[in-house]
Amino acid sequence: MDAPADPRATWGLPVPGELPRTADLEPLVTRVLAPNPSGMTLDGTNTYVVGAPGSGQAVLVDPGPDDPAHLAAVETALAARDARCVAVLVTHHHGDHAEAALPWGAHFGAPVAAGDATVAGADGRVLDHGARLDLAGTTIGVVATPGHTRDHLAFRLESGAVLVGDHVLGRGTSVVTHPEGDVVAYLESLRRVHDLGPSALYCGHGPELTEDPGAVLEYYLAHRAFREHQLLTALAGGARTVEELVATVYAEVPQRLWPAATQSTRATLAKLQGEGRIETATGDAVRLA
Ligand SMILES: [Zn+2]
Repeated sequence: MDAPADPRATWGLPVPGELPRTADLEPLVTRVLAPNPSGMTLDGTNTYVVGAPGSGQAVLVDPGPDDPAHLAAVETALAARDARCVAVLVTHHHGDHAEAALPWGAHFGAPVAAGDATVAGADGRVLDHGARLDLAGTTIGVVATPGHTRDHLAFRLESGAVLVGDHVLGRGTSVVTHPEGDVVAYLESLRRVHDLGPSALYCGHGPELTEDPGAVLEYYLAHRAFREHQLLTALAGGARTVEELVATVYAEVPQRLWPAATQSTRATLAKLQGEGRIETATGDAVRLA
């Protein structure tokens, strides 16, 4: 099995550091980049301002870090749209997406809605798959996308674009966290978003994917299958611990990303164990069944 080719390689996407801080993506959506770049967050967290032009209202999706400069940039984007914030939606509980949800909800006097009750807060709303939110002059569909985390949601817009949080990243691939994440659920969630036929994927990190979103989702599925194949090959070749598997399978990945790679590896091993294809023993020992 060969490594699948990333269809984005030929798309001319902005390289790290070149993503505009604020960008109007379509009439419904403005993206505001938070100043929190890192190995895991790529350029930083993308906060999306969503609303029908002329409605005077907007929804914030993934407010991101509770950072005064980021809040000022979001308020500038709201003013440019002549809109006030009427709700804060959050894709999942990780702090780089959710930290500002409750403080900014209070700041704007807007309710918070998320898949996780703690993120939504005492006065917020816990969202379920299939909910349709009539907000800011438009309708936003709630799509359960567990896998990266258990509570992960995507939001489908009337334009056909889908805000995917950390389910799909603008560059590279995402992490299935462990023990919270779930590879089987993640693969189902990738197929679920693929079946929506999205016109664009607006990612939690990195550039928006508009050229062929379906091809990116197919690449993500193929990438997961390839990693699983690599793990099984490494086990057959003598790797005996999670550390040895990560060092073998992720040899070409910078070591600063190995903690995340270790989580994805453990998550994939949990899937393989559930399928009876591997056995784990005490500690980090693992072998083919
Ligand atoms: Zn995350």
